[in-house]
Amino acid sequence: MPPRHSPPEALLTTLATGRGRSDRLTHTEHLPARAARYSPWPDSIRPEVVAAARAVGVEQPWAHQAEAMNLAKSGQTVVIATGTASGKSLGYLAPVLSDLLDGTEARNGRGATALYLAPTKALAADQRRRAAELAPPRVRAALYDGDTPPEEREWVRQYASYVLTNPDMLHRGILPGHARWSSFLKALRYVVVDECHSYRGVFGSHVAQVLRRLRRVCARYGSSPTFLLASATTADPAATARRLTGLPAVAVTEDASPRGPMVFGLWEPPLTENVGEHGAPVRRTATAEAAHLLTDLVERETRTVVFVRSRRAAELVALQAQDQLDRPLAGRVAAYRGGYLADERRALERDLHTGRLLGLASTSALELGVDISGLDAVLMAGYPGTRASLWQQAGRAGREAQGALAVLIARDNPLDTYLVHHPEALFAAPVEATVLDPDNPHVLAPHLCAAAAELPLTDADLELFGPSTAPLLPVLERRGLLRRRSDGSWYWTRRERAADAVDLRGSGGSPVQIVEADTGRLLGTVDAAAAHTTVHTGAVHLHQGRTYLVREFDLDNSVALVEPADPPYTTAARDITSISVLDTDTTVDWGEGRLSFGSVEVVNQVVGYLRKRISTGEIMGETKLDLPPRTLRTRAVWWTVTEDQLLDADIPLDQLPGAAHAAEHASIGLLPLFATCDRWDIGGVSVPLHPDTGLPTVFVYDGHPGGAGFAERGFQRAVQWLTATRTAIASCECERGCPSCVQSPKCGNGNDPLDKAAAVRLLDILLAGAPGVADEQNGREAPDEQETPDRPDTQDGPGTQDGPTQDGPTQDGPETSAGPETSAGREATSGPDGGAPAGS
Ligand SMILES: [Zn+2]
Ligand SMILES: [Zn+2]
Repeated sequence: MPPRHSPPEALLTTLATGRGRSDRLTHTEHLPARAARYSPWPDSIRPEVVAAARAVGVEQPWAHQAEAMNLAKSGQTVVIATGTASGKSLGYLAPVLSDLLDGTEARNGRGATALYLAPTKALAADQRRRAAELAPPRVRAALYDGDTPPEEREWVRQYASYVLTNPDMLHRGILPGHARWSSFLKALRYVVVDECHSYRGVFGSHVAQVLRRLRRVCARYGSSPTFLLASATTADPAATARRLTGLPAVAVTEDASPRGPMVFGLWEPPLTENVGEHGAPVRRTATAEAAHLLTDLVERETRTVVFVRSRRAAELVALQAQDQLDRPLAGRVAAYRGGYLADERRALERDLHTGRLLGLASTSALELGVDISGLDAVLMAGYPGTRASLWQQAGRAGREAQGALAVLIARDNPLDTYLVHHPEALFAAPVEATVLDPDNPHVLAPHLCAAAAELPLTDADLELFGPSTAPLLPVLERRGLLRRRSDGSWYWTRRERAADAVDLRGSGGSPVQIVEADTGRLLGTVDAAAAHTTVHTGAVHLHQGRTYLVREFDLDNSVALVEPADPPYTTAARDITSISVLDTDTTVDWGEGRLSFGSVEVVNQVVGYLRKRISTGEIMGETKLDLPPRTLRTRAVWWTVTEDQLLDADIPLDQLPGAAHAAEHASIGLLPLFATCDRWDIGGVSVPLHPDTGLPTVFVYDGHPGGAGFAERGFQRAVQWLTATRTAIASCECERGCPSCVQSPKCGNGNDPLDKAAAVRLLDILLAGAPGVADEQNGREAPDEQETPDRPDTQDGPGTQDGPTQDGPTQDGPETSAGPETSAGREATSGPDGGAPAGS
């Protein structure tokens, strides 16, 4: 345990007692120092590798590293899921390099090879440097990505024994050209999948199928590589690793690296005098609160970084702190704007290190380019979305034994509010899982085509590609993509390259290009699915932390023309949505209520947008839009209650729409606690009387065609998920609903109707019939195998009407980024969630 009044604790106490803030600190967690546990080097690790590790200061591996090394050497698929800076790289590098070194003694000098996959090019480059430190000169490590010049590529194929690349390059380059890689693939011993928690949702599902294609091609060349994965700490990493690779996996989760003591504060900004939509009370923004705390910390000469969600917020925090500070100190606070040159980044690191700079406000972009470990304090203005990101940010604080301070400041939304009042969700065993669904037929289909183009598909491949494969092959034949020969195998029939038909990071449909109107510069893209809500004409759009106004959304050419702008408002699209059940996979009775999971069709039309004043959330006006409806077939979890239950819960019919809508909002807000998704990935619809169920129904669906696994995870963890939802609503101190509980910043219905009190009663009556939480926890975490959804005839959804008094559904499309605090830069060009390289 740290001393009772360690410096970070004293600091936190000062912050919490100043300026009438006593009730804002909702929790203090003491994370004690942890001593390192070492293990001897396994005998199977080559002495040259041990010597190289010692030369860079690693005398002995930590216990978890040694455990991973032993598992890897025994040919076991292993996932190392330990904290930031816990040396995951060494855990997989030592066995890989040992085998590669063995391979150099083969006749051709390349008796063993290994493939390393990173989600980003930058991380692969970083790992190449790390490998070079430990690799004896005979091991030839090489990058192979879009930047590798053509003349070097041939050398890599013929001579490199450790090839570092990304899943995209594997999908587009290596697998389709496997014949030219034959000698490399024949000798393939290991495949390293680094930062594998970033392979989530649709992207993760694609990567899972790419790995299956790799396994098949390897088998053709007689190799069966061992998969070594590295992950942030999540719930059940072994199940995720298994879903990703298709192989049973063992998880190494006991972190034996040392850690300094940390005091972690959870902080909730106060309610203000301001009112937002429908007169709801509004909390002070997390950024404003962060600026105050930064001011106090800098006054005490505490080196502090504030993590915010956009560049504009970074500038705001720095400016406010500078305003509040006296002159000499004001000059020691800065905003990190991103886009710095290498020397500028080094200068920044130095200034922070020496203490010339005391306060820095930054987006998480900082994580990718500047080494800022060893700070005194880290403030996080808003939950960064995943526990992995949270610990990556908090981990920047801490110097040896001195201890460090981290403070999470809640933003005004249900998830943040829940977290600052439920510390166990952050500090106890993780409940958030990395979710993906490789059986999604929309994901699988193009990979079956690509696989057939690589090597004809046979019945022997059905098991590898999963249960959706058998029904999908005849469909692909009817579409003229595959042809079955008399020997029973399936061939690719087209002249074009099958692999070009899919972009691993897209979600289907051609992405919409965001082009700066005056310069013609391409800023990036947004997924087709998100375009109507994010880049409609008049939308305020945040792109990598900068603010733009959409001048024109050209549907025909999939282009949004934008101009830099700084309007005093954000925009929120208004839409109407109908949903119909196509197929029910599973239904569970919860007393009289029912919980179901299956396939749905969602028809959504963006009909206009609201402008909301940034400072107060006040509605400044509404503009109509003329956009066509779009249809999405996807997976959903839904629940129903009966009329008798409504009577028991004392919910009259006129309160039902508001109750269901409010419960739906809060449940969407809380799902990211259990699955690594954000609001963009999921949508919801609540219907007082749904034609398919004949009952009041609340749906939560995946926002991507065919689904991505989020709704399924919600179904699996429904008791905990809906219990947390109920708690979040009930414990909010507002009277009639606010952004911290039931209001959604992106509600397609303008947050109307919402009935907070009735929502609690509705969830109570539903949960009363739910199986005990204990049963659920004892239940398997491993995802069930999924049946292929049938596709019966489409039904029309219920009629959609506006207004609070009808029986029409209230719906919430997958949420989109617009507000100054909600832009994590979700564009296709941005990095993965929490995608900073893990430590050594
Ligand atoms: Zn509230
Ligand atoms: Zn809504």
